[in-house]
Amino acid sequence: MIDSHNDDLSLERSWQDSANCLGVDPDLFFPERGASTREAKEVCRGCVVRGDCLEYALANGEKFGIWGGLSERERRRLRRQRAQANRRTGTD
Ligand code: SF4
Repeated sequence: MIDSHNDDLSLERSWQDSANCLGVDPDLFFPERGASTREAKEVCRGCVVRGDCLEYALANGEKFGIWGGLSERERRRLRRQRAQANRRTGTD
């Protein structure tokens, strides 16, 4: 989610400027444990830089919040799946 990470994103302006969540309440993207992530994911669904956002979060090991439409747990799963795929193809 963009507003809360401006310090980290000074070099990432190109995709950040097109973020669908600009101006959206940041709390939506950092829900309390057990709270709904549905609204944040709805915003991400309509975001044209969703892929960039997700890759940024994966590359930087973002542990909290919704990035690229995925929760932290979903990102962990994706990282595991990618690592397994890399092992199978011998690229890692
Ligand atoms: S994918 Fe979601 S969190 Fe990422 S920039 Fe777009 S709206 Fe914001």
